[in-house]
Amino acid sequence: TDRLIRTDVVVIGAGPVGLYQAFQLGLQELAVHVVDGLAHAGGQCAELYPHKPIYDLPGIPVCSGEELTHRLLRQLEPLRVPLHLGQIVTTLRRLAAEDGMSASPRFRLETDGGLAFACDAIVIAAGVGAFLPRKVPVPGLEAWEGRQVHYHDVPPETWVGQRIVVMGGTEAAARLALRLADHGSSDVTLLHRSDRFALDEALDAELQSAIGAGWIRLCLGQPVQALASDDGRLEALEIATADDRRLSLPLDLLMPRLGLNPRLGPIAAWGLALERKHLVVDTEGFRTSEPGIHAVGDVNTYPGKRKLIVCGFHEATLAAFAIAQWLRPHERVVLEYTTTSTRLQRLLGVD
Ligand code: FAD
Repeated sequence: TDRLIRTDVVVIGAGPVGLYQAFQLGLQELAVHVVDGLAHAGGQCAELYPHKPIYDLPGIPVCSGEELTHRLLRQLEPLRVPLHLGQIVTTLRRLAAEDGMSASPRFRLETDGGLAFACDAIVIAAGVGAFLPRKVPVPGLEAWEGRQVHYHDVPPETWVGQRIVVMGGTEAAARLALRLADHGSSDVTLLHRSDRFALDEALDAELQSAIGAGWIRLCLGQPVQALASDDGRLEALEIATADDRRLSLPLDLLMPRLGLNPRLGPIAAWGLALERKHLVVDTEGFRTSEPGIHAVGDVNTYPGKRKLIVCGFHEATLAAFAIAQWLRPHERVVLEYTTTSTRLQRLLGVD
């Protein structure tokens, strides 16, 4: 059953821009929740280049993607904004009539993890989209997802004593196969289309020695068909081998690790104006084509748009002002400096 959370604003995406957006909304004293499909905050900075240096953040001569994420999280801490990780926002429902602020809450958002939010404004900070696992291109396999086919890590009690096939040539595939073998799973097969893996030297050496020692069996080929038992279990995969044979690979569990694919996914179907898969916004409040829904960071487009972190920070700041004004139509939202405002300093716990 869904858990319903009532809040002012939901930020979709915990990349650098989504995190800073939550900070700016917090300074406006709005209640905020952040949701991200990944298991950790940081978006591209954490997922694509955690250890690479960034040299163009204002006032920070050099900083890795991981360090920037830590700094943004630390800055956000005093505002106590809940982060909901490992959940993709899938559904948007309009609760209010088209004609303005008549109803509150205005929107309902739902995640694939069973969370639901009732809120009055939304900021989409979805970057290049949700990083979804690449699926195995075998027809019908999705029927066993969550039971015998796992695209995400599952607890040990699920796999102990089972015949496991890990699939892929990625670092995640190699690490998972090694971890399973290490935990005494006696029956681990690594299935990959070729004997070339995209691994650094140390990990490659570790994998080769585990294969050499027989802890991990290597199967070279591509699955072409899923074979079910009489009682409807996934029993085996039919493999087209690298040397053009067919073989049947029996298994209890399949754990594909084929890499992640960013997809705008469900958001693209919400009826918001798009231009080449980017959300069209104004440059005053970074509003999309629908009142109450804003978009900041890599996901948006406007004349002169540049996909840079610093531009996303600017967009998030102005979006927060616009949202505060929109939700408090009878107040004047004024600019205050963190340096001198006792209100802001109290919020940040530094007064
Ligand atoms: P992202 O970082 O893409 O984060 C979006 C988040 O939204 C993701 O975590 C995703 O999981 C989540 N999400 C998407 N859809 C959903 C959904 N439906 N439900 C839940 N969560 C969802 N920029 C610079 O300014 N300087 C640099 O030096 C620099 N170097 C870079 C180097 C590399 C290799 C790369 C790839 C990019 C670099 N960039 C740099 C660009 C910078 O990383 C991006 O501009 C920045 O990450 C955009 O932030 P964002 O928060 O908008 O989106």
